[in-house]
Amino acid sequence: MNYYSTNRRSADATLEEAVMRGLAPDRGLYMPRRIETLPAEFFEHIEDMDFPDIACRVADAFFGEDVPADTLHALVRDALDFDVPLVEVTGRILSLELFHGPTLAFKDVGARFMARLLGYFVRREGRKEVNVLVATSGDTGSAVANGFLGVEGVHVYVLYPKGKVSEIQEKQFTTLGQNITALEVDGTFDDCQALVKAAFMDKELTGRMLLTSANSINVARFLPQAFYYFHAYAQCRRMKGKDVKPVVCVPSGNFGNITAGLFAKRMGLPVKRFIAANNRNDIFYQYLQTGVYSPRPSVPTIANAMDVGDPSNFARILELYGNSHEAICADISGATYTDGQIADTIRDVLERHHYLLDPHGACGYRALDEGLAPGETGIFLETAHPAKFKDTVEAITGRPVEVPAKLRAFMEGQKQSIPVSARFEDFKRELSDHARHQL
Ligand SMILES: *Cc1c(COP(=O)(O)O)cnc(C)c1O
Repeated sequence: MNYYSTNRRSADATLEEAVMRGLAPDRGLYMPRRIETLPAEFFEHIEDMDFPDIACRVADAFFGEDVPADTLHALVRDALDFDVPLVEVTGRILSLELFHGPTLAFKDVGARFMARLLGYFVRREGRKEVNVLVATSGDTGSAVANGFLGVEGVHVYVLYPKGKVSEIQEKQFTTLGQNITALEVDGTFDDCQALVKAAFMDKELTGRMLLTSANSINVARFLPQAFYYFHAYAQCRRMKGKDVKPVVCVPSGNFGNITAGLFAKRMGLPVKRFIAANNRNDIFYQYLQTGVYSPRPSVPTIANAMDVGDPSNFARILELYGNSHEAICADISGATYTDGQIADTIRDVLERHHYLLDPHGACGYRALDEGLAPGETGIFLETAHPAKFKDTVEAITGRPVEVPAKLRAFMEGQKQSIPVSARFEDFKRELSDHARHQL
């Protein structure tokens, strides 16, 4: 399968090129040339299939031409070694719990899949090692580091701003060892990003070592997110019967997650419509109302993984709907909530339904509660475990949040990181030393 750039000024790329580059040379986002419609028969029996089987069928549609079936299926099964259950919160609102992976958030799915696909390309090309550079303000670093942990032929460097990530976030990528190196930068998140960018531009460095990034616009992180929409539908049919056509609500920041759902619908998945739930960073909501897309600087909220002022996957949504505001509005509606409304929702749902939401999932739940028509069934994506936002959630509910064993285990690990200054020369020397050890 070939991938084209949404900016249309770069040539098509193969899957391997698109994965290695992330962004197209013209700075557009890669889109698959074809989106296959899956046969009706697949959907008729989908409730008899488990998550890995469903995911393998969907993976065939995207990656089947580029990766041999047995390799692809082994890779999918290895990536999805945790469950994604659909849980009833009320009679008409169901929660798709995407937080049972290693870092308790949905980004685990894409990060684990991308790591294994990259590992396969390294083996196939007989390369010694690919180096993944990732700058993080907290959560991306943990999903990428854990996703790539132990994958042969890939070394990950996580750059994070010293003293600016929470202790639990820091532990999630500094305690791993093996093929993960944490670099503690004496600077800000922007400095970390600038170092990564400078490394990609440095001819000497790129001549000596193979560098790539693992950010969320990468097709290998983006496309596998379609898998769990099919799995959600399968479980929903089991619970609500064969005629169900759910409304799916996605708490959205960069809009990668919901766009993967729109791809699933294009492949034939019976979804009645989507709702994109925003916090106060409601650029997409405003676009739906007015037809005008005006990005603006993000403001901090308690659902901070959605604090995005210029959602990068908006270009993919426009592309999918041929730039038609009308077509987009026919499939997607929006919602926007303040911190106060998010807090009220967490409190209310805990009290009335004994279900503890995280601040992101709370936006999703509320948009369904307000937006479902009589007779409709809604599924919202619970994108992270509430314990990841322990202090916020405890302050809202006044009750202790139980921390899952997985998260506690990170806290007991020993932090290992290499301090570096924000000067490129220091960072470059550190990378070069590592490259020498690889030879
Ligand atoms: C990343 C993230 C989001 C936003 O997902 P997008 O794909 O960027 O829209 C929502 N909730 C949580 C917990 C996240 O980590």
